[in-house]
Amino acid sequence: MSAQSPSPDNTPGGPVVEGPFDPEHDPTASYALEPDDVAVLTRRLVATSGRTAEVRSPLNDAPLAHIPQSTAADVETAFARARKAQVAWARTPLEERSAMLLRLHDLVLDRQQEIIDLIVWESGKARKHAFDEPLHVALTARYYARTAKRHVGNSRRIGIVPGLTRVDLNHVPKGVVGIIAPWNYPFNLALIDGIAALAAGNAVVIKPDSQTMLSALLGARLLEEAGLPSDLWLVVAGPGSEIGTAIVERADYVCFTGSTATGRIIAKGCADRLVGCSLELGGKNPLLVLRDADIEKAAEGAVRASFSNSGQLCVSMERIFVADQVYDRFVDRFVARTQALTLGATHDWGNDMGPLISQAQLDAVTAHVDDAVAKGARVLVGGRARPDLGPYFFEPTILEGVSPDMACFGKETFGPVVSLYRFHDEADAVARANDGQYGLNASIYSQDGARARSIARHLKAGTVNINEAFAATFASIDAPMGGMRESGTGRRQGAEGIRRFTETQAVATQRLVRFAPHYGMSDETYAKVMNANLRLMKKVGRA
Ligand code: NAD
Repeated sequence: MSAQSPSPDNTPGGPVVEGPFDPEHDPTASYALEPDDVAVLTRRLVATSGRTAEVRSPLNDAPLAHIPQSTAADVETAFARARKAQVAWARTPLEERSAMLLRLHDLVLDRQQEIIDLIVWESGKARKHAFDEPLHVALTARYYARTAKRHVGNSRRIGIVPGLTRVDLNHVPKGVVGIIAPWNYPFNLALIDGIAALAAGNAVVIKPDSQTMLSALLGARLLEEAGLPSDLWLVVAGPGSEIGTAIVERADYVCFTGSTATGRIIAKGCADRLVGCSLELGGKNPLLVLRDADIEKAAEGAVRASFSNSGQLCVSMERIFVADQVYDRFVDRFVARTQALTLGATHDWGNDMGPLISQAQLDAVTAHVDDAVAKGARVLVGGRARPDLGPYFFEPTILEGVSPDMACFGKETFGPVVSLYRFHDEADAVARANDGQYGLNASIYSQDGARARSIARHLKAGTVNINEAFAATFASIDAPMGGMRESGTGRRQGAEGIRRFTETQAVATQRLVRFAPHYGMSDETYAKVMNANLRLMKKVGRA
């Protein structure tokens, strides 16, 4: 990929990439994919509608690309092709699938700058937050390459008759996994779940969010370069309300990441067909600062927790509960650190925050802050849009005095807005943190790790980070990640993150004895012998 004038290959039906950015950040230059890149990038996109949809950069609202759009019939075609390809892939030795993932790992690290450039163009996020995405993909690819055999390789279970009943477990791939992905982490959320699905022997049909198709298409292209056979990873493009349903109607398993409202629709569709789904949904995540916390560390963590990717992060913190004894000191440091953040619409590493993704997102964030202020909340920092920096900028905002009648008290803002609350005793803090319908992520700052871990058990959250905001659990790929309550169902990462894409099959081989009376034994005697066996098994400690 390079900076150049719009390519002569920008024909109708193919993606036309044009924009004001190049890797040198010259605002007068155009950005375009090279002709070969254009062809390769859309190789796995199934889109015959003849329509295109524009992708614009949130950095300055300039057009970046026109993406060919798919129809419901294209979704059907994609599933048919993927289903055919999956048969051979399921028979491909796990070692070969893993080798492909290790090649992907290297490719993602080698091509990191190109990937980050595209993510910044497309999502507007600060470069240091875009960096997290290829990093997470590489970690995930290596993890499943090295552990798939442990998680989904054949294993044994205890048979009913010791030595005579052998039980083997097979983890049979579901078939074709349908992935519906959001825009906030457009590269890694387009890849990490699918990497696990592929490792388990499935094919994937993915529908990325329309606002961030290019990052997802680059992911598909890298999989192809890593040697993934054709048709095992196909992309469709279009609004969720149109072609999302077509995916839910055909997939053998649906992996959805997005809002709780859409998650409910997906769950109902899957329930109708009796297919499984994992739903990674929204949150209103709490961070607890206990009285023995290291205040400087807590303030640093709270800034990252609240404002990474401009707060458009499912695991980011929107509520901070601080112990009375340290409240003033914490607020002082948190406010100072937030005031020091730099906002900018450039590609360099210097920015702490970029813009929000869109006008809709800016409107939603503005509405939450305006509503809180109108009802009496105090703004300690920020509180307003910054059109002087770019069309969708909103300042990192800290609120005090937020009450239950305000929208931002319990509803997810999904922006750079966080509310501060004081607490007197920890049981009260835990109860308030557990208030509401969500349960995705939580964080505790305390110098007493054991006490913090015991408090964690009482928090209704799928992940709890101690002395860290979200990265410790999210980057620990062996640790399952997902939500309780309305934050979702199912887990990504770890053994749970790959086994969800398989059906567990038990195969029992019986030798010598059978489960019926032998040698003229009556049913009654057989029952007595079986009962005696059960008592013996208990006595000798069998499970
Ligand atoms: P969204 O639900 O509107 O969209 C997500 C995806 O679903 C998009 O690809 C969209 O096209 C598709 N979609 C929309 N309507 C659909 C339908 N009826 N059928 C099928 N697909 C449909 O979500 P959003 O508001 O764009 O994304 C932000 C939300 O995602 C936030 O709530 C955030 O917390 C959540 N999120 C959660 C995680 C997680 O891991 N838990 C990660 C990132 C984002």
